[in-house]
Amino acid sequence: MPLSELTPDELTDLHARLTKDYDDLVARGLKLDLTRGKPASAQLDLSNELLTLPGEGEFRAADGTDCRNYGGLTGLPEIREIFAELLNVPVAQLLAGDNSSLSIMHDTLVWCLLKGPVGGSPWAGSPVKFICPVPGYDRHFALCEQYGIEMIPVPLGDHGPDLDAVRDLLADPSVKGMWVVPTYANPTGAVYDEAVARELVGMTAAAPDFRIFWDNAYAVHHLTDAESPALDVLGMAAEAGNPDRVFVFASTSKITFAGAGVSFFGGSPATIAWYQQHQSKRSIGPDKVNHLRHVRYLKDADGVRALMARHRALIAPKFAQVDAILTERLGGYDTATWTHPIGGYFISLDVADGTASRVVALAKAAGIAMTGAGAAFPYGKDPRDRNIRIAPTFPSPDDVAGAIEGLTTCVLLAATEQALAALPAPA
Ligand code: PMP
Repeated sequence: MPLSELTPDELTDLHARLTKDYDDLVARGLKLDLTRGKPASAQLDLSNELLTLPGEGEFRAADGTDCRNYGGLTGLPEIREIFAELLNVPVAQLLAGDNSSLSIMHDTLVWCLLKGPVGGSPWAGSPVKFICPVPGYDRHFALCEQYGIEMIPVPLGDHGPDLDAVRDLLADPSVKGMWVVPTYANPTGAVYDEAVARELVGMTAAAPDFRIFWDNAYAVHHLTDAESPALDVLGMAAEAGNPDRVFVFASTSKITFAGAGVSFFGGSPATIAWYQQHQSKRSIGPDKVNHLRHVRYLKDADGVRALMARHRALIAPKFAQVDAILTERLGGYDTATWTHPIGGYFISLDVADGTASRVVALAKAAGIAMTGAGAAFPYGKDPRDRNIRIAPTFPSPDDVAGAIEGLTTCVLLAATEQALAALPAPA
């Protein structure tokens, strides 16, 4: 029965029962961690062949390049071709880099601040604001905070952000950027649809050098047969007359090895030239041996698709398990809602307003580490203190089940505490 319909006595009974459940939970001395979206060892094992590739004596790219040496700022054409198809970006407009797309986002942002993007002057020195669809990826927000960029949250729906809010904000010339995770967004699983993407690349912006940081980290990370293909966002931006508006980022972190994959940067031809000009000061070339080993292992876009199907077989059951436990334990109380992602790495749980911090603290004291409440919001501040990010991929299925069962006890306990506190004082 919904919590709101319980009589004071029923609420008191429920609270007593949940307090006992919680004490039992604490007594179990769990040590579980659902904090970061990391691949499980079994997922990393899928790519162990990389550890022996490209193999002794193998160091030449298709065009004869010696991958051991310096140079080749664009990255190997072979790896760019594979991901150009998957990311829906022309090969000539996609560069392959080292192991982290977050590093590329960092560099791109810093170059915009210090040097200015194509056709713009340096952003630094005047107030800079970014539109941040929420809930969102905490490391994007950390980058903004690091460089003093003011973040403006905009609600994110299932198919993209509130476009009216974005349109209004773009009337401000100090709004220079916007974070977008277009496919299976972290943490809600939202998928930007084509109409939303077209609006975003075409909208009038007071800042002529407004940029969308299009982070397609989960482009091929489907959890169901309803696969959402990458949109041709650069083509759309060019058609809309704003060819330089979009920076595309991606990596193989959650395809091969999270710490030793290949990252990608995409943009208009002018943006690619701009990026390379700055990049050439920072590096004499990326790790091409890693590119070569990825090419030999993945072979082609279908090789990536087949590998992702094996990831799906390992992680989709964990997502299903989380959903089943949340439904069974919380379904009847009408106190929490959660997302049902069809891809990506996260489930976003909204508990009773004002209780997320309490839930995370209760879970922590019971040995269940959750990402901090508010982490998915700029400055770590969830105005409704209700959002909790669940990352089910890393722990074993048993640990996922134990952690989510424990978490549901904390969710209900916090909600009943709050409901009891809100009861009118006895006359
Ligand atoms: N973008 C998003 C949306 C992510 O969720 C993550 C990983 N959690 C990253 C980027 C990090 O990517 P990389 O490993 O390529 O630095």
